[in-house]
Amino acid sequence: MSLFREMDQYRRISDAKAAAEKSGTAAKRAAEELELLQRKLAKLTLICRAMWSLLQQQHTLSEQDLWQRMQELEQRDRDRTSQGTREAPKCPKCGRAISLEHSRCMYCGTEGMPADVFDVL
Ligand SMILES: [Zn+2]
Repeated sequence: MSLFREMDQYRRISDAKAAAEKSGTAAKRAAEELELLQRKLAKLTLICRAMWSLLQQQHTLSEQDLWQRMQELEQRDRDRTSQGTREAPKCPKCGRAISLEHSRCMYCGTEGMPADVFDVL
């Protein structure tokens, strides 16, 4: 085997090792992010259950009421998505669109909540 060919193979092996290490690091990071998301989902589920329990007690709502409302909202979201009418929340003061990533209007500085708090998710 010529020296040149040997050096080329050594370089290829080295590149493959570096790519494998990079992939391993990315996979480890993805697994950590997944674990974090799973913990957040578990907390959110617990919060939803607690809120639903309180609502049921205080407003005599049934499981059927909840299922019906979920289906209504799901259908509304499907309709808005298919029509392309899902809009960013508007600033309560100047009426311009508020970025979903910020709670403050970048045009007038008004601190405000979007009309639908779930739009920020
Ligand atoms: Zn504004």
